[in-house]
Amino acid sequence: MLFNEVLDLKGKIRIYCRVRPLLPGEPKDQSTVDHIGENGSILIVNSLRKGKDSKKVFSFDKVFGPNSSQEQVYTNIEPLIRSVLDGYNVCIFAYGQTGSGKTYTMSGYDLNTKETWGVNFRAICDLFQISKTRADVIDTQDVLDLIRIGQRNRIVGPTAFNERSSRSHSILTVHVHGKEIVSGSIFKGSLNLVDLAGSERVDKSKVQGDRLKEAQYINRSLSALGDVISALAQKSTHIPYRNSKLTQILQNSLGGHAKTLMLVHISPEPDAIGETVSTLKFAERVA
Ligand code: ADP
Ligand code: MG
Repeated sequence: MLFNEVLDLKGKIRIYCRVRPLLPGEPKDQSTVDHIGENGSILIVNSLRKGKDSKKVFSFDKVFGPNSSQEQVYTNIEPLIRSVLDGYNVCIFAYGQTGSGKTYTMSGYDLNTKETWGVNFRAICDLFQISKTRADVIDTQDVLDLIRIGQRNRIVGPTAFNERSSRSHSILTVHVHGKEIVSGSIFKGSLNLVDLAGSERVDKSKVQGDRLKEAQYINRSLSALGDVISALAQKSTHIPYRNSKLTQILQNSLGGHAKTLMLVHISPEPDAIGETVSTLKFAERVA
């Protein structure tokens, strides 16, 4: 199967794209996503502009359409998550403009409904389920409770949360220490689930002072991440980890015995076309 072949390539960067559905209140039947091919291609139509730039095709390892379920997305990530138990350092990044569905994919929508659980709950349940044969593992429930505490603000004040979360990166790291049953050798793996700050460009005429500085800082850290991932994909001898705090923190998880997945998110609404195209270009650049 092609997916497993891709997974076997150590150090390869995988890029998936998820298109969220149009939401209530957004113009119906005006999706900028015109076609999603089975081979992972996506056709974007810029309905506002005519001419040669009005249609673009992008290609990724996988594209999830607006009707894709949380389970479908997770099924395609699961082998990567499980490789943590083989001692890999796995990094999964959710990239995209604010409102494109990053948090929906990573954390889910309603924690009380399992079908809507995002990657983080599913991954942790999976890892604990598989490793239950280790005797002193704490209960999955304890871990889920911990994540819940971290997300409580989101439930209490969704507006305030979105305001804050869109301007910060959120990283959930799980360290796995294991022992080979037959050889007795010790291995370590880690899983880093990263809900990145919104990638939208700042309009200097609208934002000033600390907010402008903050926005520019975020854009710099996202482009530093892009530089690191593209250097890794090209197997460069120099990987510029030191250019941002984010890449410094994740340095050990991104290089070496590592597997990286970039999950880019786009909104199909016409107003978002500029950000959509720049998100897809970013993803193509790092591949
Ligand atoms: P981000 O974290 O990128 O800012 P969110 O995850 O908060 O974006 O999503 C923005 C809005 O779109 C939320 O109301 C969310 O519930 C909705 N949404 C995002 N992705 C999906 C999806 N795949 N299916 C249904 N609704 C979605
Ligand atoms: Mg978010």
